[in-house]
Amino acid sequence: MNAAAPQLIEASSPHVMNTYGRVPIALSHGQGCRVWDINGKSYLDALAGIAVNTLGHNHPRLVPALQDQLTKIIHSCNYYHVPGQEQLATKLVELSGMSNVFFCSTGLEANEAVLKLARKFGHDKGIENPQIVVYERAFHGRSIATLSATGNEKLQKGFGPMVPGFIRVPLNDIEALKKATAGNPNVVAVFFETIQGEGGINPMRAEYLRAVRELCTERDWLLCIDEVQSGMGRTGKWFAHQWAGIKPDVMALAKGLGSGVPIGAVVAGPKAANIFQPGNHGTTFGGNPLAMRAGVETLRIMEEDGLLDHAAKLGAHVRAVLDRELGSHPGVKDIRGQGLMIGIELSKPCGALINRAAEAGLLISVTADSVIRLLPPLIMTQAEADEMLGLLLPLVRQFLAEA
Ligand SMILES: *Cc1c(COP(=O)(O)O)cnc(C)c1O
Repeated sequence: MNAAAPQLIEASSPHVMNTYGRVPIALSHGQGCRVWDINGKSYLDALAGIAVNTLGHNHPRLVPALQDQLTKIIHSCNYYHVPGQEQLATKLVELSGMSNVFFCSTGLEANEAVLKLARKFGHDKGIENPQIVVYERAFHGRSIATLSATGNEKLQKGFGPMVPGFIRVPLNDIEALKKATAGNPNVVAVFFETIQGEGGINPMRAEYLRAVRELCTERDWLLCIDEVQSGMGRTGKWFAHQWAGIKPDVMALAKGLGSGVPIGAVVAGPKAANIFQPGNHGTTFGGNPLAMRAGVETLRIMEEDGLLDHAAKLGAHVRAVLDRELGSHPGVKDIRGQGLMIGIELSKPCGALINRAAEAGLLISVTADSVIRLLPPLIMTQAEADEMLGLLLPLVRQFLAEA
């Protein structure tokens, strides 16, 4: 029952480093798109652990597969062959049309490898000071290099000096990209999210993606795409750039790939597949048997259950309702996104909605200060989506009615 008021537990972790502004609840378990906190209150999950829990919680086919793997081997290390790596790589190659995969454990790690690949691509052709084009409002992670590639001064503040070698440009402006790189022989790559997640659900337009693809081919630059949030079926295609019919040279994946088990991957096309040689890169946990099993089973279940189509259709339904109910509201600036990656930009900062939604039994996030972000598990049913909208819409209207 939802009767008990949520208990504030934020002060109960005096030994955990204070790095997050947390919602004052703790989740204990979940089933499908529903989760329960330690006080027994239930919530509809419209966040999926930030686009991670692709298959929701306690999935009836994923969990037994993981249990089976736990009894066999969890970790073996990369001194040895890991058959699951070849299995998952084969699948990712098939789905992406690319050719080789490196496995790691997180999004920033995947992006860090992308940056190293791009730099070595340059060094291999004699460029001593390779430069990589990145974007305003981008988010690529919190390591020093990926933070340097990130376009958010608030996140960078206090951690300088940033890593050099980045050129920053605005989104969806091919002339600005040409101008920023004009006559510069040191450019080696262009790196962006197809739909910026943390930056506020900002999509790259299809024509822009095709123009960048063309420019990269023409100038012999690597086209590198961070699909950590927008990939893995979230937009209704395996990878969001596929909506534009383009293929990158390098792609970073993580978040939804293991349905909750930490995993990251760098997928490379022929132009980037042989840049790393033995000794160039590695990571202890990367490609471990448990994570590989999670990835293989996640992809298998997604295919068996037609979750790509489902995400596209359900996303269109949610968008239609949002457009109808909020589209002409003066306090709503824009509704954006694709599939089940949806942003509602309000005319004022709306971080307060996170706790209000939790109180009402709905888990959402707010990003870029004023963008409500919906990233539900891809298994969400239409009835659950309507329940999500039924909880969210009155909260938004109420919030916008306040001075
Ligand atoms: C979350 C995210 C990252 C960072 O992933 P971590 O696993 O938190 O390191 C990088 N890029 C994008 C687009 C993301 O959404």
